[in-house]
Amino acid sequence: MIDLRSDTVTKPSPEMREVIAKAAVGDDVYGEDPSVNLLEEESARLLGKEAGLFIPSGTMGNLAAMLTHCERGSEIILGDKAHTFLYEVGGIAALGGIQAHILPNQQDGTLGLEDIRKAIRMDDIHDPPTRLITLENTHNRCGGVALTGEYTRQVGEIAKERQLKFHLDGARIFNAAAALKVNPAELVEPADSVMFCLSKGLGAPVGSVLCGEAAFIKRTRKTRKMLGGGMRQAGMIAAAGLYALEKNLPLLIQDHQRAADLARGLGGIEGLTLEHEKPPTNMVYINLARELLLNAEETAIKLKDKGVLVGITGERQFRMVVHIWINDQDVEKVIQAFKDVLS
Ligand SMILES: *Cc1c(COP(=O)(O)O)cnc(C)c1O
Repeated sequence: MIDLRSDTVTKPSPEMREVIAKAAVGDDVYGEDPSVNLLEEESARLLGKEAGLFIPSGTMGNLAAMLTHCERGSEIILGDKAHTFLYEVGGIAALGGIQAHILPNQQDGTLGLEDIRKAIRMDDIHDPPTRLITLENTHNRCGGVALTGEYTRQVGEIAKERQLKFHLDGARIFNAAAALKVNPAELVEPADSVMFCLSKGLGAPVGSVLCGEAAFIKRTRKTRKMLGGGMRQAGMIAAAGLYALEKNLPLLIQDHQRAADLARGLGGIEGLTLEHEKPPTNMVYINLARELLLNAEETAIKLKDKGVLVGITGERQFRMVVHIWINDQDVEKVIQAFKDVLS
């Protein structure tokens, strides 16, 4: 099977499994797991932050950061297509008593600067206090677009000016840095906290890392424990994360090239239209024309018969995510499978 449903489907390579088997471990709740400590240090170094915190998932990373930044009854500004708003089971509301102040995500994944300014609450007896602004980079539901350092800096300035915190859902921040050809630390510099996933394009089996100032990370370590995310000999998975940062991070750009090849091939097929003429990073969102008899679900079943798995993101829309296990031949096979199914 050529599995393009997500970059989360990436399984550990034999080399990574060897690293896992040999990992030095200890009890991480006691702060004694050398592999976890190294991963946290290395992550913070890569992102230019003081400290890091290893977290079981991206969802828990965002949640722990938001619970630490915000008290009950306060408000977070975030996009209507943000992963945190759409796909994290309402955790900030259910577990944090935090209200989401939703602004429209523009096509390029940004929030309008004027919209943000207007959404920040006044110091009025009626208003919930605004505590946090959140951005997502790359922006998943907006096609994997990368938000620029310049835009992020402008949002950071608003946050500073109004004494708000600024969190970045950087599940795929290294894809953004690769696409923009910038240092990832530059992209996240204005943010007080940033979460990234090891378990997506980086190809590790489990885990995310949250980075920020040392005092914030110390407080969030406690929040993570409260959420049940304190792990013991987690070095087994942290070692895979370290391997991923060293060996797989430099390969992300190849995923982007292959996504471009895939888009070029699919864009030439009658009845298919691309969301982005050139995919911004590793994702290809594609729409089926109305004239075609098949909808997305029916097409996906036929593609599956040809050995291709795609994500369904709408009645007539697919998402395909290119990752470390997809090679040039696979890209050709996927294009051919679409041609066969739609002809
Ligand atoms: C995947 C993802 C998350 C959550 O990560 P999980 O490890 O799946 O919980 C958060 N934000 C974005 C943008 C993501 O793509």
